[in-house]
Amino acid sequence: MIPRIDLHTHSTASDGTLGPAELVRAAAEAGLDVVAITDHDTTAGWEPALRALPAGLRLVRGAELSCRWDGVEPAIPLHLLAYLFDPDAPELVAELARVRAARVQRGERIVALLRADGIDVSWPEILAGAGGGTVGRPHIAQALIRAGLVTTTAEAFGSDWLGERYRLPKEDIEVFRAVRLIRAAGGVPVFAHPRASRRGRIVPDELIADLAAAGLAGLEADHEDHSPAERAHVRGLAAELGLLVTGSSDFHGTHKTVRLGEFSTGPEAYERIVAASSGVIEVASG
Ligand code: AMP
Ligand code: FE
Ligand code: FE
Ligand code: ZN
Repeated sequence: MIPRIDLHTHSTASDGTLGPAELVRAAAEAGLDVVAITDHDTTAGWEPALRALPAGLRLVRGAELSCRWDGVEPAIPLHLLAYLFDPDAPELVAELARVRAARVQRGERIVALLRADGIDVSWPEILAGAGGGTVGRPHIAQALIRAGLVTTTAEAFGSDWLGERYRLPKEDIEVFRAVRLIRAAGGVPVFAHPRASRRGRIVPDELIADLAAAGLAGLEADHEDHSPAERAHVRGLAAELGLLVTGSSDFHGTHKTVRLGEFSTGPEAYERIVAASSGVIEVASG
């Protein structure tokens, strides 16, 4: 039987709604053989996920790094999935801590903009809602829902709200630096949803070629934010550049509608990721 592999999921350590322990249990219940925990800019979910790992499930420890490309003005934000890296690598740890702190300040500023327009959302309540996890716009979206201003997270990301009008940039990691730091920590970088034009501006293929030369290992092709044409384009580009191709749910619990395992990665790509990591952190077996 072909193993079911989902390499991109979020827990309450960032903007998912299941705790790390609940996440791995849900992954087993969904019939997955391999799941990666990839919270935004943190490894805080690794330990609780490991401790709760159900028998027969393999856990790939990872993170999704908030990055930026400075090739145009203003810079384009993008996400790198980083797998099996040393969570104690000092430079990477420092960058993640810096990004998380900047996210708190940015969240507070977004809330100030909303409040200046008479929208009654409370920053302390939003911060409490994040429960110590990496704060993001989905947490602010929940406050907009509670206030009855929108009914869904998707609506909160519309252009009148957090998608544009009340969107502020984050202080992301320069993407070539991120690739370098992930590799230096023994990890494997994969570009998350690289063509998701529905999320905002996307980077040119030339940048992806340059990133491949700098150590990028793969591209996420099958993702709900990619149209069929975008998925095909990503596959073609990966073949051209010799990059591996993944597919994943990018599960966020009830903050999104996608289910665990709804998109998945083939065993060859998974094996390539494991082989390319330098063994500081290994795939854990439950
Ligand atoms: P932030 O990291 O604060 O910039 O917020 C981005 C996060 O919001 C992503 O990681 C997704 O979890 C979520 N997100 C982005 N766009 C949407 C959308 N259209 N609907 C629901 N969630 C979204
Ligand atoms: Fe997210
Ligand atoms: Fe992402
Ligand atoms: Zn994600």
